[in-house]
Amino acid sequence: MNDADADTDATRVVRAGLPGEEPYAPPLPGPVFAAHYHLPGDVADAPYAYGRDANPTWTGLESAIGELESPGDPDVETVAFASGMGAISAVLFSQLRPGDAAVLPSDGYNLLASLRQRLEDFGIEVRTAPTAGEAQRELLAGARLLWIETPSNPGLDVCDIRALADAAHERGALVAVDNTLATPLGQRPLALGADLSVASGTKALTGHGDVLLGYVACRDADLAASVRAWRKTVGAIPGPMEAWLAHRSLATLDVRTRRQADNALAVAEALRARPEATDVRHPGLPDDPAHAAAARQMSRYGCVVSFTLPGREYAERFLDALRLVGDATSFGGVRSTAERRGRWGGDAVPDGFVRLSVGLEDAGDLVADLRCALDAAAR
Ligand SMILES: *Cc1c(COP(=O)(O)O)cnc(C)c1O
Repeated sequence: MNDADADTDATRVVRAGLPGEEPYAPPLPGPVFAAHYHLPGDVADAPYAYGRDANPTWTGLESAIGELESPGDPDVETVAFASGMGAISAVLFSQLRPGDAAVLPSDGYNLLASLRQRLEDFGIEVRTAPTAGEAQRELLAGARLLWIETPSNPGLDVCDIRALADAAHERGALVAVDNTLATPLGQRPLALGADLSVASGTKALTGHGDVLLGYVACRDADLAASVRAWRKTVGAIPGPMEAWLAHRSLATLDVRTRRQADNALAVAEALRARPEATDVRHPGLPDDPAHAAAARQMSRYGCVVSFTLPGREYAERFLDALRLVGDATSFGGVRSTAERRGRWGGDAVPDGFVRLSVGLEDAGDLVADLRCALDAAAR
C-alpha cells in the first residue's frame, strides 16, 4: 500500500516513513551506524557522505514525522535534532540576525528564558507575551518571528494559531509553533498557517522516556535548507539509535495519545472533585479556560494535567504517597509521572503546583491512586 492511500492517523502512523516492501527486507530497517559512507568521485549529488550531514535512519524518521505533521504534502520537509532544544535553537539562531525583533511566550518551556538571554546577547530584541489572550498581536509590528507554544508547558494555556499566524504574516513575520505537548496527531500547526512546527520528540512523540530528540517541520525549501545547514554547522544531530527508536515508537503514537488523552480527562475530572486541588487544568475539560480555543485547533488534548495543592509540603506528601505515578520530570511517557514544578525555579507557578503526565495505566487505577495520595497528604 502506498503511503498516500493511508488516510487516517491510525493507519498512517504504522507505515509512516517505511520503505516500500522488498522481499526478505525488514519492514523498518535497523539503525545505520556510520561516520562516513563510501564516496567515490563527485560529492555534489551524494545523498550520504558524512555522518553529521545525513543518515538513512534520520531520513526514514524525518519522512515519517513529515507525513504526520502535514499528511499527503509533497512539500513538507523535516529536520531531526538531538533534542527539542537543538531544534528550537536552530530555528531561532538560523532565522534571526542582530537588530531583528522576535516575539516569544512569557510563560512557555522554562529554557526559553535562557534562550532569550542568548538572543539579547546577540543583539536581537525579544518581546514577550503570555500564551493566553491576544497580547502577542500588539507586539508584532516590525517583528521578524513569532514563536508560540500551545498548549503551553506547564500552564496549559492555548492560543489561536490560525489567528496569530494571519496577524504575523500580515506584518511579514515568520511563525513557529512548539508542538511538543499536542504531538502532530493532536494538532497540525502547518495546516493552521504556521511556517514551522517545532517539537521535542523526547516527550509524547516517542513516549517511552528513553530517547532525547527534536525536529523542525516546514513547507518552505529555503527555510528547511537553512535549518538543516544550522544543524550541520553546530552538529546538534540525533544518534542513529535514538532516531531508530523514535521511528519504531511512532507506530503506537495513535493508540498512546488517544489513551493518554482519555485517561488525562478522567484524572482531571476526578481531581476537580477534590477541594484541596485548585486550578485544575486540562484543555479537554469542557469548562477549562483554554477549551474553546483548543477545540478549534486540536483533535486530542494531550496527557498533561496541572493543579495546585495547598503549599510545597502538601504537594511533596502527595507525590510521596503516589504508588502508580513516579516522581519525575518530563511528560508524555507510557508510565504516569508527576512533579512539583516549583522545585526547578524558573516557572511562574505556586509552590504547590503539580504537573501530572498521565500514562497508559488503567484510568480507574490511576484515579484510585491519586485519591489515596490526596487523602494521605491531608493527614
Ligand atoms: C521538553 C520541552 C522542550 C525541550 O525539549 P528537549 O528534548 O528536552 O530538549 C521544548 N519545548 C517544550 C514545550 C517541552 O516540553
